[in-house]
Amino acid sequence: MEYIRKQRWATYSSAKCKEYLRNDFAHECAYCKLQEKEVGIVGLNFFEIDHFKPQVLKLSDSHKYHNLYYCCKKCNKEKSDIWDTSLLDPCTDDIFSGNTPAIAGGKEKDNYKYIAQNDRGTFYINTFKLNSRTQIYFRRAREAHENNLRVINSLIDEILLKVQDNIELRDFAKSVFQLVELIRKKPQELDMLPKNEMFEKAEEYLNDKGIENILVYEEYNMDIKMKANGNTYYCELVLDNSIEEKAEYRKNIDIEKLTTWFEKLNCNFGILFYYPKIQRMYFYPVSDEIKLSETSGTNKLKQIKISAKHLIS
Ligand SMILES: [Zn+2]
Repeated sequence: MEYIRKQRWATYSSAKCKEYLRNDFAHECAYCKLQEKEVGIVGLNFFEIDHFKPQVLKLSDSHKYHNLYYCCKKCNKEKSDIWDTSLLDPCTDDIFSGNTPAIAGGKEKDNYKYIAQNDRGTFYINTFKLNSRTQIYFRRAREAHENNLRVINSLIDEILLKVQDNIELRDFAKSVFQLVELIRKKPQELDMLPKNEMFEKAEEYLNDKGIENILVYEEYNMDIKMKANGNTYYCELVLDNSIEEKAEYRKNIDIEKLTTWFEKLNCNFGILFYYPKIQRMYFYPVSDEIKLSETSGTNKLKQIKISAKHLIS
């Protein structure tokens, strides 16, 4: 298989859905592997959410996360409403990699053409027009880019070895190391990807309050890792666009989600409730305030109250 997806609670209409998909599909099109960075600064708009089993089938779980795939505009258009059970699934089948890939080639020696290894490979190539002129152009550019980076890196290593061996060149070495740093930074800079606005704002809010945090997009909707009360917590970020300023908010948490968190997570965890319109963020440390035993019973939801004591100020 090409991608291993995390377990997440999101649907087609969830605000975080696309960001979760971006991460699970390594910032590239699930079908043709076009990378966000290859389409430049407008990257995000060129990528869409595809229903793997198309909506025309009117399946009840059509909009659920497991049926949603991150893909480029082009592949989404080519695939459209096409559906056949023989269509290779990047989340379960070996398409370009693995022990028995259905498709080989795509390199310079094959004129960048993909070569199907079986009928399903042929169907996949035809569905997404993977041997079209555009696709071949992308593959050629990708290989050239990777080769260039490899050449630059080996040249740097060569220069460094020469400098290390020669004592007279030691002063010069300092400048070379600076140069190396700059050259190393260049591809990183090229790899920089646009961030989801909601996550970026939340990150800024926490930074402004002096709270150490990092976006992690871990399993089970654990979006942000942060320091609070002297501990490290993994948190889900929940967005609330209301503008009502209340002393206390009531929120419902899905029991299935809560149970999974308690059973699967070996860390402190909580929820960050973010109100961007009124610039407030609350931190509810679930693992401190709720006991697993409280989550049993027949209720589907657990109600919690968030108040001033949870406000991150
Ligand atoms: Zn694509």
